[in-house]
Amino acid sequence: MGYAYPPPFAFFLIGRKRGSIISAIAFSICAYLIYTQQQQTITIGLGSLFNTIEVSIAHILIFRFYEKTRSLAYQNLSNLNDEIKKLAETDKLTELYNRQKFDAELSALITKSEHSQASHCLLMCDIDYFKKINDTHGHLVGDKVLKEFAHLLQQKIGEQALIARWGGEEFVIILLNTALLDAAKQANELRSLISSNTVANMPITISLGVTAIQKSNDSVLKVLERADKALYFAKHHGRNLVCINDNNAHVTCYDTFLKLVDDDINE
Ligand code: GH3
Ligand code: MG
Ligand code: MG
Repeated sequence: MGYAYPPPFAFFLIGRKRGSIISAIAFSICAYLIYTQQQQTITIGLGSLFNTIEVSIAHILIFRFYEKTRSLAYQNLSNLNDEIKKLAETDKLTELYNRQKFDAELSALITKSEHSQASHCLLMCDIDYFKKINDTHGHLVGDKVLKEFAHLLQQKIGEQALIARWGGEEFVIILLNTALLDAAKQANELRSLISSNTVANMPITISLGVTAIQKSNDSVLKVLERADKALYFAKHHGRNLVCINDNNAHVTCYDTFLKLVDDDINE
C-alpha cells in the first residue's frame, strides 16, 4: 500500500489542492497495479479492490480536511502575530509609531547611513502651551488635538517621512533623503501651516528642533540630543519657531540659519 505514504507528505508539503492531485495520481497508479495483478496470476477479489478504493478515498478526504484545518489555524496565528506586532509598535491615541519602534527605525537608519550617500534629518516637534488646552477645555479636547495633529502630519509629510509620537505632545519625524537645508524649510512650512490654521478647532502653534543624521559616529541618543537642544532653543526664543542644530553643534533659528547658508554660498 505504497500510495498511503504520499497523501500526508503531499498535503503537508504542497498544500490541499496540489496534495489532492498528487494523492489521486498515487492512488490511481496503485488501483491500476492491483487491477493488472488481478488480470494476471495473483487473484485479488473484486471486494478487496473496492475496499482499497474506499480506504484510499477516505485517506485523501481525511488529509484534505486535516490540511484545511491546519492551514486555517496557521493563517489565524499569523494574523494574530501581525496584530500583536502592530500593537507593540503603535501609539494607541494617534496610531503613529511609538517611541520603541521609532528608536529601532532610527538605529537601523543610522547604521545604513554609514554605508550610503543618502542624507536624512530628524525633526523634534512640540506643541506650544499644550497644557493650557487641557486646563481650559479638558483632556478629551486635548486628545482630539493630538489625534488631529498626528493625522495632519501623516497627510502633509507621511510619504517621505517616519513619524512617531515621542510622548505627551511631542512628536519626532525622520525626513528621509532630505538635506538639512530642505529639512529646515519643510519644518518651517509645517510650523507656518499649523499657526495659520486650527487643529480640532483649536488655534495652536508648534516649535521644532532640526538636525541631520551624521554619516559617522552618530547614535540614536546623539541625534535625539541634538534635536532636543534645538527644540529647547526654539522654546527659549519665544516658541512658534524652527531652530536648527547644524553639524558643528551650532544652534540657530530659521532666519539666521538661512542667512548663514546664503553667506556660505556667497563666500
Ligand atoms: P511648552 O510650550 O513649554 O511645551 O508647554 P506645554 O504646556 O506644551 O508643555 P508641558 O510639558 O508643560 O505640558 C504638556 C502637557 O501635555 C501636560 C500633560 O498633561 C499633557 N499631555 C501629555 N500626554 C497627554 C495626552 O495623551 N492627552 C492629553 N490630553 N494631554 C496630554
Ligand atoms: Mg509643549
Ligand atoms: Mg513637551
